[in-house]
Amino acid sequence: MRQIKIGDATIDAVIEREGPWRRPEQFFPMYDAAVWNTHLPSMEPEVFDPVLGMMVVTYQTFVVRTPHHTILVDTCTGEDKGHPAPFDFPGKERWRKELFALGVSYESIDYVFCTHLHIDHTGWNTTLRDGRWVPTFPNAKYVFHKREYAAWEAEHAKGNNPPGTVFRDNCLPIVEAGQALLVDDDYALDDIVTLTPTPGHSPHHCCVNIHSRGQKAIVTGDMMHHAIQCREPSWCPGVDWDPAQAIASRRSFLSSVADTGTLLMPIHFPAPTAGLVTADGERFHYRYKRD
Ligand SMILES: [Zn+2]
Repeated sequence: MRQIKIGDATIDAVIEREGPWRRPEQFFPMYDAAVWNTHLPSMEPEVFDPVLGMMVVTYQTFVVRTPHHTILVDTCTGEDKGHPAPFDFPGKERWRKELFALGVSYESIDYVFCTHLHIDHTGWNTTLRDGRWVPTFPNAKYVFHKREYAAWEAEHAKGNNPPGTVFRDNCLPIVEAGQALLVDDDYALDDIVTLTPTPGHSPHHCCVNIHSRGQKAIVTGDMMHHAIQCREPSWCPGVDWDPAQAIASRRSFLSSVADTGTLLMPIHFPAPTAGLVTADGERFHYRYKRD
């Protein structure tokens, strides 16, 4: 993804993984081949590899730089976590190298926002040092929704997996280090960065808004994983916390941004990633912004 400019802010992508690797029939319980094939010609070609029959799914972090702050939004799966495949894979140093190539050091990060506290959005939050998980970004405050945090804390206490070690290794050490900001729906960092609650995929999933000088981009986290969910907003991945709520959030959100010029930045959409939504009756189109 080329750098995006939103008024006085810039947004860059730092990629941990990309390419075709997920089969839609395994990811979406509602998958229907006839429906998929009907929509395929209306979706951007980057989102599916028809030869392999796999969706192109990226893991990336957005680096938002405003006149006041350097911010990361979502932190992929991270290193040394000991997760089962497909969440651990070789070559994760790509993420570090891309971050440093932007001129961003770990020490220079002021804030880390996690749209939700899943395995592929919290990984680089922490680093293994002398056998302990410690915050990777020593000067950052980490912004977690307080009820999202509480929900996974409760699941962890019950021994439920997921999140398994995700809460213990990626989230709890941030709170123990005193670097967490546990916030509510209406949290605003300043007049540039705010939240929009879009619950369902996780208990209190939030999108992160970036607005400056009349322009707006929204990092949509996992409000949708693939462009098919614009064509079929009722398709949910099997991992959703509350599918009915996820569908309601997705429909409401997509209706609110359709035909407005708001730039969406879905974490898992492959490059060029950033795009615009247009309405098509009860459905939507996702169109990459290519200029
Ligand atoms: Zn995800």
